[in-house]
Amino acid sequence: MGPRNVKYVGRISVQRYQTLQLGLLSFQLRIEGDPLPQAWTRVQRYSSWMCAVTVEWWLGLDRDTIERMRLNTPAGGWFPALQNIRWQVGGHNIPYTDLFLTPSLENIRIVVSCLHKKSEAHTRLQDSVALAMSALPASRLRLLIIAPLNRKVHTSFPWEDFTDSLSSVVLRCGPLLKTFASQIPLSGGAVNHLISLPGLRTLQFCGPPPQPSDLHLPLDFPPLTTCFFAEDSTIGWLSMFQLFEDRARTTQDSSPLARMKESLTQVSIGDDGLYINTGLTSPLLMFQKLTILKMDIYCLEEECLFYLKDDDIKTLAMALPQMKTLTLGHPCRKNTCRTSAFCLLSLSVYCIELEQLEVHLNASGFARWYEETAWEPEAELPRCALKTLVVHEMPLFLDVDAVEEVSDGLANIFPSLGDIQWKAGGGGGGWEEVRKNFVD
Ligand SMILES: [Zn+2]
Repeated sequence: MGPRNVKYVGRISVQRYQTLQLGLLSFQLRIEGDPLPQAWTRVQRYSSWMCAVTVEWWLGLDRDTIERMRLNTPAGGWFPALQNIRWQVGGHNIPYTDLFLTPSLENIRIVVSCLHKKSEAHTRLQDSVALAMSALPASRLRLLIIAPLNRKVHTSFPWEDFTDSLSSVVLRCGPLLKTFASQIPLSGGAVNHLISLPGLRTLQFCGPPPQPSDLHLPLDFPPLTTCFFAEDSTIGWLSMFQLFEDRARTTQDSSPLARMKESLTQVSIGDDGLYINTGLTSPLLMFQKLTILKMDIYCLEEECLFYLKDDDIKTLAMALPQMKTLTLGHPCRKNTCRTSAFCLLSLSVYCIELEQLEVHLNASGFARWYEETAWEPEAELPRCALKTLVVHEMPLFLDVDAVEEVSDGLANIFPSLGDIQWKAGGGGGGWEEVRKNFVD
């Protein structure tokens, strides 16, 4: 992709790019100096075709240019056909981003790149961002994603200060909205509105669920396909789902989650410091169509957070037979968990579609456990075709003799296994030896 044609218009240059992937024409505008009125007309000719724009954080226009753009604004705005915007929020572009926020926008991606600093200038910037955010167009919106640029921004940015601004946008969203993901917690009313939108399919929950008094009842969750739980929201939402389900079972009414139970295929949990126990997994067992369950949870330095036992994992495997990708936290070095090769066997036979797996195992007596799995009733059943086992930091200390036993056991449970992966630099211990028996 590159400039195919550059048209000079007075002191305005309009560089033409073609984005082949989308099959759409888009343009990069560079407006400099003090253009003549006819030059503005040329700019408008190009800008009125523009479908997609990326506003980088460093992209600044001088005050005079912004002023003149505003004075020369055509009826319907500069970008009447704009559908997609990716806006990396920064002090340089805040003064003019509103020129791009046209009612035609369908997809808005906002990347927050400013770190939180306690200064007057920063407070002013935050106020400007909040103001710009509350003016986001919503009537034709299909996708709204607000994400931090990196981990540093994620932890330092005062997301809750933007609750009012973003909630006001959500309350204006209509049935076209399909994807909503944000680090900013929403007001109870806004969450309630969001979960009543019939077109919604992908949702990132941030913050707790609304109070029962805030909920419009009877509630019918849209047929979501993908749910992300983040930032202390997980337990609140899952408990609420469980409550709905228990209540529907007792009263024999239809569950507010009836459609979602049929449609939900992917759940991701990115909630730091959560215990991985049956309190976390039990409410998920009702979503039997899940193919991806990712618990992106790292154990603490001082404590392993994984408390599932072999039987808990067997229950999970039997409840979620369509599972393809399963991450139950990232195995740590502690070696204190109570899962063994039995859980691998359950996963292999009950999740026959399994393609990726990450689960804690206690490596003490590992070789012996593989022998014992031969006596399990599951030992006769067909296995999944898992190709890669991710062990992250899981230790494995083996005698030379035991390497073959563990390798044979793993090959029996996962006949298609071709690789074992661990965290770079973390050291695989005995895994390194076992792996040699699987890779070519
Ligand atoms: Zn752990």
